[in-house]
Amino acid sequence: MRVDINKEELKNMFIAVSEKIISSEDFLTEIDLKIGDGDHGTGMALGFKNVKEQLEILKPDYAEDVFKTIGTTMLDTMGGASGVLFGTVFISGILNRNPSEKLTVFDLSEIFTKSLKVLKNRGKAEVGDKTMVDAFEPAVKALEDSAIKGKDMKESLKEAAGKSKEGMEYTKTIQAKFGRAKSYGEKSIGLQDAGATSIWLIFQEMSDWADNNL
Ligand code: ADP
Ligand code: MG
Repeated sequence: MRVDINKEELKNMFIAVSEKIISSEDFLTEIDLKIGDGDHGTGMALGFKNVKEQLEILKPDYAEDVFKTIGTTMLDTMGGASGVLFGTVFISGILNRNPSEKLTVFDLSEIFTKSLKVLKNRGKAEVGDKTMVDAFEPAVKALEDSAIKGKDMKESLKEAAGKSKEGMEYTKTIQAKFGRAKSYGEKSIGLQDAGATSIWLIFQEMSDWADNNL
């Protein structure tokens, strides 16, 4: 039973996440075409292609360096709303932390709790607005809950992935209040949000990687 993940494992986990997003480009494009401008898949795939390259040459001193590399690479290389929003998810959670060579479930929950707060501050979206927040907030809450209950890393990531999937499914039932999807009004009901789908893919791959490697 592993209760933590070290800097090298974290790096490898996010290389796997990058590959997952790159291979999901068409799937994400299809979703964003129905309800947005269709650029979400291309933007995310481009961002994570660069992230993968940067991670492969990274020699992290600390686990936080992995998050920093992901966030800054996304901010530097992706356009659109999601470049800033996803960049924020990865960069803002590690600001002002005491760097460490490994992360516990509690550390992960602390990092993502902080980045959720910054994301919501920046984007102004809350749960129910049909954005990535609908998938991210339940995943973060699941991590917090697992940290309190002392669950191991695999189980904690599995719960987080499950909750983010539920959140992504929930976006099908509600009307968009933000971004380009807003102009679709009631027609957005029945369709899932692209950003929420990406958040689910990220947590799902984190969980799958942990299952196979921790
Ligand atoms: P763009 O909106 O520039 O075309 P993308 O298509 O890459 O960018 O990303 C759209 C996604 O961004 C949406 O599916 C939604 O999840 C997310 N999003 C848009 N606006 C906000 C916001 N204000 N707060 C949080 N997430 C948002
Ligand atoms: Mg778009």
